[in-house]
Amino acid sequence: DIFDRIEKTESKLGSFTLLKKESALEEAKKVDEKIARGEELLPLEGIPVAIKDNMVSKGDLTTSASKILANYEGIYDATVVKRLKEAGAIIIAKTNMDEFAMGSTTKSSYIQESKNPWDLERTPGGSSGGAASSVGGYQVTLSLGSDTGGSIRQPAAFCGIVGLKPTYGRVSRYGLMAFASSLDQIGPMGRSVEDVAALFNVIGGYDEMDATSMELEMPDFTANLDGNIKGMKIGIPKEYFIDGLNPKIKKVTEDAIENFKKLGAEIVPISLPNTEFAPATYYIIAPAEASSNLARFDGVRYGYRAGSYNGIEDMYIKTRSEGFGPEVKRRIMIGTYVLSAGYYDAYYKKAQKVRRLIKNDFEKAFNEVDVILTPATPGTSFKLTDKKTPVELYLEDIFTIPANLSGIPGLVIPAGKVDNLPVGIQLLGKAFDEATILKAGDAYE
Ligand code: GLN
Repeated sequence: DIFDRIEKTESKLGSFTLLKKESALEEAKKVDEKIARGEELLPLEGIPVAIKDNMVSKGDLTTSASKILANYEGIYDATVVKRLKEAGAIIIAKTNMDEFAMGSTTKSSYIQESKNPWDLERTPGGSSGGAASSVGGYQVTLSLGSDTGGSIRQPAAFCGIVGLKPTYGRVSRYGLMAFASSLDQIGPMGRSVEDVAALFNVIGGYDEMDATSMELEMPDFTANLDGNIKGMKIGIPKEYFIDGLNPKIKKVTEDAIENFKKLGAEIVPISLPNTEFAPATYYIIAPAEASSNLARFDGVRYGYRAGSYNGIEDMYIKTRSEGFGPEVKRRIMIGTYVLSAGYYDAYYKKAQKVRRLIKNDFEKAFNEVDVILTPATPGTSFKLTDKKTPVELYLEDIFTIPANLSGIPGLVIPAGKVDNLPVGIQLLGKAFDEATILKAGDAYE
């Protein structure tokens, strides 16, 4: 069974924070019996799925890879978990991630570093690194990640798999531990566009438990994958072919554009002039929201509490000093700073205005094209021992962040290899038009 494969690979990959072998095998047995009886199966019945450890699942440790939640057990199911169960999927594991989804490597996890299945010295990316390594390493068929600034798409690109960040408001965030609430979205990861679309069908759609969830029709995203993209207009934004882009990745992207042309798509050069401001904007807004969201980890409500302290003030300080890792503290400090009186107008308010300009760029572009094609990442996966500064890491999110700031969907699919490492391309779509990017991605595969 699948656990043989996991046993052989997990000590190398470190994808999981929790393995649910016993319950998974029990559920699998029930599915076998159902098959033996010739009963009809639910859409994902018996399919092994792993979910990122920032999604609450009842009775399971749900840690967000943080010391502050190291012993926290979910007391309810996130909406996506509930829907997975209703569709018959078997949740076999929780996956490793950067602490509270802050990072691009899994190195900020309190638990472990995950490894890239293509090269065990390299990062699978992050923050949904374990979700990507488990699918790329054939430990599970499907996984769920979350994407605030690229955390589904960058690890998908690094591990040679498919990852979708849906439109903001498409998938319920109820039960997702909040990082930056105006940017966070849960999304599916898999080894083909069809698999990803099938998982998306199950998790997406309106949920009354999330006030930002949209009451819109969910089309059948697998039914639409007919391979016909003749006449589809694909925009190529010149601002994504920057100096920092690895020339070999540029070449893979250009080859992909040629292939789309051969499939009958019309290629249209476009401009998204405010792209260069995306990382700076994101690294103000995301920490601002994070500093507020993470205020709840105070040693009182749940999770870790410092062992000894003098009074409540000291308890808060010690609990948070001991419970959060360095990257989370950095974000809380940046966020508190940009929200503080005196700096709010200069940083946070400015960032909100630039966010609007970035969104306007896309709205204008989508008047002319159906899909926008870009590289997914400026480089391929790097060594876990590489010493990159926080700012160097932040700047590498430049191609994924604009979709979060604008709320639009983004799909990453494998497009080739550079130096034996996978390279992804990104297809961006109009808000709530995941169908078109999935169709384009599937046609390309
Ligand atoms: N790398 C980005 C960050 O560190 C994205 C994280 C995410 O999407 N969760 O914030």
